Formats: sequence, C-alpha cells, structure tokens
Amino acid sequence: MSDMTFTLTEEQRALKAAVYELCKQYPPEYWRDLDAKREYPDALVNDLTKAGYLGVLIPQEFGGAGLGIMEGALILEEINRSGGNAAACHAQMYIMGTVLRHGSEQQKKTFLPKIATGELRLQAFGVTEPNAGSDTTKLQTTAIRKGDSYVVNGQKMFISRVLQSDLMLLLARTTPVAEVKKKTDGLSVFLIDIRHLKGKGLEVRPLRMMMNHSTNALFFDNMEIPADSLVGQEGKGFSYILDGMNAERILVASDSLGDARWFIEKAVAYSSQRVIFGKPIGANQGVQFPIAKAHMAIEAADLMRTKAAKMFDAGIPCGPEANMAKYLGSEAAIDAGNACIDCHGGYGFAEEYDIER
Ligand SMILES: Cc1cc2nc3c(=O)[nH]c(=O)nc-3n(C[C@H](O)[C@H](O)[C@H](O)COP(=O)(O)OP(=O)(O)OC[C@H]3O[C@@H](n4cnc5c(N)ncnc54)[C@H](O)[C@@H]3O)c2cc1C
Repeated sequence: MSDMTFTLTEEQRALKAAVYELCKQYPPEYWRDLDAKREYPDALVNDLTKAGYLGVLIPQEFGGAGLGIMEGALILEEINRSGGNAAACHAQMYIMGTVLRHGSEQQKKTFLPKIATGELRLQAFGVTEPNAGSDTTKLQTTAIRKGDSYVVNGQKMFISRVLQSDLMLLLARTTPVAEVKKKTDGLSVFLIDIRHLKGKGLEVRPLRMMMNHSTNALFFDNMEIPADSLVGQEGKGFSYILDGMNAERILVASDSLGDARWFIEKAVAYSSQRVIFGKPIGANQGVQFPIAKAHMAIEAADLMRTKAAKMFDAGIPCGPEANMAKYLGSEAAIDAGNACIDCHGGYGFAEEYDIER
C-alpha cells in the first residue's frame, strides 16, 4: 500500500479528457430525445466501443486495452460527468471480471475478441428473481444437465439491457438447496449467447422504468444451452458473482461521482449567471454552502473510490473500501443533485435544464 498514490497518472488524465471529448458529441438534446422515446443510447455505446473504451479491461492478447478497474472507473465517471448515462454500458465492465478470472480459454478465445471489437455485446447479467431479491442464495431458476446441454427453467426480474445485448451472464441453481452443505453451494454461472434463444425457451418482457434503464422480466421455459456455457466449476457460481461485486461497487461509485460532478458544474455555472435581487444568486452564502458541501463530499468519495480501485487492481482484498466508495459516491450524488435542483429554483423541474432527468 505504501506506493499507492491518489493522484492520477498523465495517461489516466489523458484518458479522462478523451472520453469527455467523445461524450460531448452527445449533447443534452440527445439524452432528452432518448428519454422521451425511452430508447437505448445505441450510437454512444457504439462509439465508446469503437474507441476501445468498453473493452478496456479485456487483455491485449484478446484485443482489449488490458487496463484496470481504475481506468474503467474513470471512463464511466466521465460519461456521467458529460451529462450522459453510463448505466447503458457499465455492466460490460463489471461482468467482465467473472469471465476473465473463471472463464475457460475457449470461452475467452470465442467471445473476448468479438466483445472488444463490438461485434458482440456483453451487457446483460441475470441474477435477481421475483422471490429471491437481495437474498441471492434463494434463487429458484434451475439449470439441469442433460447430455451436452443444460435445461433452464425459472424466472428473473429487473434484468437490464437483455434486448441490447448478445450475451448474458446467468446465475442458476444446478444442485437443489436441500442437497448442498451450504446454501451458497450449488449455484452456477453460465455465459450464454441469447441471440438465438429469444422465443426459444426465453421470453423477454420489458418493464417500464425510470429514465433510460432498459430492464426486463425474463421467463425460461425449458431453455436449452450448451454445456460448455458453464463458467468455471459447477456449483461455485455464488463465489464468482461475489468476486465481481467489488468491481461493480467501484464502477457504480464512479457513475455516481460523474453525476455529482455534472450537477456541481451545472449549479456553479447557473448560480454565477442568474441575477436576482440585483446580484448573482451565487453571491449568497445560502446558495454557496450546499454546493461547497457537495463538492467536499465528492472529493472525499473520490479518494475512497480511488483507494478501492487501486487496491482492486493490486489484487488486495477491498470489500470494505469498495462498499464505502459506493455509499459515499451515491450520497455525494444525492447532495449534489439537491444543491443543483435547489439553486435552479423552478427551472430545476423543467426538462430543458436536464436536472430532473
Ligand atoms: C434499474 C435497475 C436495474 C437492475 N438491473 C439488474 C440486472 O441487470 N441484473 C440483476 O440481476 N438485477 C438487476 N436489478 C435488481 C437489483 O439488483 C435488485 O433490485 C436488488 O438486488 C434488490 O432486490 P429486490 O428489488 O427484490 O429488493 P428486496 O430484496 O425485496 O429488498 C427490498 C428492500 O428491503 C431491504 N432489505 C432486504 N433485506 C434486508 C435486511 N436483511 N435488512 C435491511 N434491509 C433489507 C432492501 O435493502 C430494500 O430496500 C436492477 C434493479 C434496478 C432498479
């Protein structure tokens, strides 16, 4: 830990600037239009992929940049700092760890180069179920081995981007809970190509959700998947998913940090130019203080996110740091959002100011 510094390298600063530049080509009108039509930001996701940003974690031998979670985190942060929504594509980064650490050589050779070029998207992650919720070990979807296949039956809830993804990482029970020593045993992860399964054992029902979240209920009815879709060892899937949770926490904290920075930049700009009672509203300490407080919360959360990311990349266990980063990042985003909407007065509610979105 002694060699860990919390300042970014020149390359990391350049990466941030380049991502921000790319995202600025997608102005607020783009997001407003998508929001009204409830559509997925295909054009931005394709551009980010072409530029190599969504393949940043894929090793170079498979066509990616071979960088770490720190770089992934900075990319997502900049997408949101530009006013965009990284939730459209962040899953590819946090799912990736499970495939990289536990996937077979064959799975890596088959899928990673195509994910890196954008030929295939890995954006769907199927864990949550209607009757399991936060208690993942209670999930009821089963995958039963039958010759060269597994047959999947059950239901999933809130599975995002299934309609925009070619591949899905799926968690299902391969051994009934009554037959395992620990309830965390007997769950397995599968990397499946869902392009040909829709309508053939897989039914996707889109759910109407807040903002641009494309989320679905899934129904599996004797869905047959090849046995070599299994990732790692059968029955060990729960630990693989837990492994990936720290990456997800760090990346989601970075989404929040980007949102928070966007709110504060917007709040500062508006309160400097909005003149009420003969002076800019930002000249009043009552307007300044919430903005300054949110700014401090962002900087503190950034330190924890950076610490967690550097520990993760160095292979040091970082569960507490990743959890704290996610909590602090989301709190900072809420503080910044409140400060931003408050200083905009009634305009904070108007769609054309983008804050309510
Ligand atoms: C926009 C969106 C996208 C999502 N995308 C995905 C996805 O792609 N893939 C996927 O698998 N899932 C996804 N999810 C699902 C998400 O991970 C679940 O909502 C989450 O795991 C919680 O499950 P639940 O909604 O059933 O809540 P529940 O587990 O029913 O919990 C309800 C409330 O009770 C609280 N609670 C539960 N147990 C306790 C306890 N012991 N102590 C204190 N409080 C408790 C919870 O914190 C929560 O506030 C998505 C959800 C949303 C909203």
